[in-house]
Amino acid sequence: MSNVEKVTVLAGKGAQIPVRAGDEVTVVNVSGTQVVDFWCLPKSSPQQYLSLEHCREVLNKIYFTPGDVLVSDRYEPVFDYVADTTGGLHDSLIAPCNPEMYRRFGRPDGHPSCAGNFWAGVKEAGLAIPFVPSPWNLFMRAAVKPDGSIEYSRPPYLPDGRVTLRMLVDATIIVSACPDDCYPTNGGDGSPRDVVIEITR
Ligand SMILES: [Zn+2]
Repeated sequence: MSNVEKVTVLAGKGAQIPVRAGDEVTVVNVSGTQVVDFWCLPKSSPQQYLSLEHCREVLNKIYFTPGDVLVSDRYEPVFDYVADTTGGLHDSLIAPCNPEMYRRFGRPDGHPSCAGNFWAGVKEAGLAIPFVPSPWNLFMRAAVKPDGSIEYSRPPYLPDGRVTLRMLVDATIIVSACPDDCYPTNGGDGSPRDVVIEITR
């Protein structure tokens, strides 16, 4: 009998979740409009991370699709991207929102950020990584046009969209229900929403 653990990540907040090889991780976009910054840090070595740069290299694309195996910065297979009910096209290019970005947009100091949620997760999990890797920006649309420019847009996704991954290593997952209220990518109304992570062990 498998056991499903549900973790609700509150709007604008983050969470760190330890997972084991064989676990299935489903990120549920309850509202359909919420971007989820997603990191995965394998336990096999202290500063290894899911690397979007290496994934784009080995998979020859910027939008990953079910059936792909995503890798770490050391080319270690991290998880199978097994299913996606949303239609995909999740951004793999853009940096996580961060205090300096909010400062550039004139937001007051102390604005929550995905980078801040990453650091909180690292601290809570007792990890040693000294930098913020590029996140996989689930449910975020930043389309690259033929001329190379990027077009940010409101997520076109329906409520309850699900991205499911099967872990190939023991790891710590860190997620952030993005608090971005500067770009249209996060629903367009400046209000982050809760998301749910389901872990099937
Ligand atoms: Zn963010």
